[in-house]
Amino acid sequence: MKSLNRVEISRSALIHNFQVCQRLAGSAALMPLVKANGYGHGMIDCARIFADQGAAAFGVAEAVEGLRLREAGITQPILVLAGVIPQTLPLIVEARLTPVVLDPSILPELSRLAEAQGTAIGVHLKLDAGMGRQGILPADFLDLAWAVEADPHLRLDGVMAHFPLADNRQSTNSAEVLQTFLATTAALADVVPGKCCLHLANSGGLFYVAGARLDMVRPGIALYGYYPDGPDGRATAPPPLLQPAMRFSTRIIQVRQVPAGSGLGYWHLFTTSRPSTIAVLAVGYEDGYLRSLSNRAEVLIGGLRAPVVGRISMNLTLVDVTDLPEVQVGDEAVLLGRQGEEEITADEVAGWMETISYEVLCLFGNLNERELVD
Ligand SMILES: *Cc1c(COP(=O)(O)O)cnc(C)c1O
Repeated sequence: MKSLNRVEISRSALIHNFQVCQRLAGSAALMPLVKANGYGHGMIDCARIFADQGAAAFGVAEAVEGLRLREAGITQPILVLAGVIPQTLPLIVEARLTPVVLDPSILPELSRLAEAQGTAIGVHLKLDAGMGRQGILPADFLDLAWAVEADPHLRLDGVMAHFPLADNRQSTNSAEVLQTFLATTAALADVVPGKCCLHLANSGGLFYVAGARLDMVRPGIALYGYYPDGPDGRATAPPPLLQPAMRFSTRIIQVRQVPAGSGLGYWHLFTTSRPSTIAVLAVGYEDGYLRSLSNRAEVLIGGLRAPVVGRISMNLTLVDVTDLPEVQVGDEAVLLGRQGEEEITADEVAGWMETISYEVLCLFGNLNERELVD
């Protein structure tokens, strides 16, 4: 028996989005970001689909995610973007993951483990070219690159940085970060005999920053069907548009007639102004349908919009369906995605929640039973 709350992930939308990104990337390779369980879409399913489409590598936050991908049979390089610390190095080496090195402190232990395995380990370096979060500052970069290259058990395979403002098309910051990245890595030719993979662009960098594609791009949100700058991005994007891959639905578990002047739910956050028909949904904040959506969100029932009324509870949400025809127990209510001609996007839900689509997708996708469709 399955939950009444259901997240469907569209395989064809994921494939479409990968192809849109690949077309934009041109000759640059694609490294899908599948952290946060594929932004709530299921890391392993997504990685398998993207691998079939030609993904060159994958990006995860923690080493343990990389291990799960290896156990699922993913053979591409897997970059561990966060949590490369002494405690995780044995796992990283054993699962043949690619550590993203932030400073020289980790190198001796990494080298020791590689030597013990009788192999050389490829690493990528993270340059702080303006993100101001992680990585090595430009002034210290070449010393770190030399330290890797001088170690017989380590191999310098790539250098990356991250944009802080790639989703802001008005900002000049991305051009500056790109400039810093290129200027700092220009000297690599002296350090690395072969070619070293340079990568900088997230979805925003891929879509909006000229010249940022370099050797590889690292889209996340775009692969799942959303523009990094939300509704603006969708409104102004040239076709073909990205296709949202997630749909989140629940069921109506009771339909009630209440008189005018009825206070509904905890704290009576909503009082009816007319005799009303109220549908009770089997979803609540436990399922990621957060309390901030109370009295604000809309859902789709029978292809029409209906407003959420009153406070969202742990497992229950109330919807005013007075203006809808023939609503019945068991009917589907769509919280995210399409029903008939109508669609609620993660950007719209994010607007109600005062957040971004990324957070909505992680919440809905990771707190509910997921199913891959089409
Ligand atoms: C998450 C992440 C990305 C992907 O960002 P999107 O905005 O989702 O495209 C790219 N690079 C790094 C380092 C990240 O952590």
